[in-house]
Amino acid sequence: GLAIGIVGLPNVGKSTLFNAITRAGALAANYPFATIEPNVGRVTVPDERLSALSRVFTKGERVPPIIPTFVEFVDIAGLVKGASQGEGLGNQFLANIREADAIAHVVRCFEDGNVIHVAGRVDPLDDIETINTELILADLNGLEKRLSNLQKKAKGNDKEAKEQADLAEQILAVLGEGKPARAGTYDAPIPKEFGLITTKPVIYVANVGEDQLTEDNEYVNLVREYAAREGAQVVKISAQIEGELAEMPEDEAAAFLTDLGVEESGLDQLVKVGYETLGLITFITSGEKEVRAWTIRRGEKAPEAAGEIHSDLERGFIRAEVIEWEKMVEAGGWANAKSKGWVRTEGKEYVMKDGDIMNVLHNS
Ligand code: GDP
Repeated sequence: GLAIGIVGLPNVGKSTLFNAITRAGALAANYPFATIEPNVGRVTVPDERLSALSRVFTKGERVPPIIPTFVEFVDIAGLVKGASQGEGLGNQFLANIREADAIAHVVRCFEDGNVIHVAGRVDPLDDIETINTELILADLNGLEKRLSNLQKKAKGNDKEAKEQADLAEQILAVLGEGKPARAGTYDAPIPKEFGLITTKPVIYVANVGEDQLTEDNEYVNLVREYAAREGAQVVKISAQIEGELAEMPEDEAAAFLTDLGVEESGLDQLVKVGYETLGLITFITSGEKEVRAWTIRRGEKAPEAAGEIHSDLERGFIRAEVIEWEKMVEAGGWANAKSKGWVRTEGKEYVMKDGDIMNVLHNS
């Protein structure tokens, strides 16, 4: 699944947001629980298509359970000014952030005299620069070490090491200008084992006071301008409100949001933007037993998607029965959909689309 790492200066609202995430996750029924680390929280991806399909496959009293897909949020503590120097960023910090697919960078956009700001005043741009500089420095340090190893290997006529050393030098030049690695263009794709942080897409999370959700305050405007220059997305939330929402039953939460004048909770927006930023889509498996959503990358083919369900299904993939979810709702079930000719047979080269319902035929 998708993992989003939460970073930001101290006292910007990260823990408040993270607590809301874990509470929301604990309340959401019907997703496969696994033991997860204490710094990981799960938010289900809201998807109205699933409830429509659950109604389709309801037989009398038997309502098929809905199993939504989810996004993991990882609370990444330990980022302060100067963190990358001196002691260096902790190993735990680096391990956590390297596992994340994207970074949610929480920025303080609320005024509150009772909440101390580490730099003495609310200044979102300065805060963003402070964090981004630490991340760039962490990459610089890590990549310089890697480069010297690669150069040693390259002397021994290791062609791959030579190529990687060249690439590392190109990236270091970008980092050296104080830019994130993602800002550069390179001769080759950056290998995962480089372990870079600043290749990951960033979503700026502007944390505002609860009375500032409808109209952007001046701080939010600044964050939006900054993000636009980087081509990054912004999600405006109130971490405190998210905490309150996480405690409410669904209908109460909806009424509360309406009162506040917003359409969607901040967490739901964050999940959606995370999906868009990473080019993710959802496909569905659906029947009387359950209605379940699965996350894949846009462009994945049917066998890879089948592999999300189980590796056996990818290995033994023969073909798939595919139908768009709206067509299934209209047909009212597999049998009728088939008799109408709406269920297509797709082979190994089929590129999955968002909202496809798939039934995998396999020999495993
Ligand atoms: P962290 O250090 O980034 O994890 O920040 P916390 O989540 O611990 O928040 C620091 C303080 O700011 C806490 O006292 C929170 O209650 C408070 N806080 C967080 N978000 C808001 C907000 O939107 N408005 C106000 N007034 N206070 C907030």
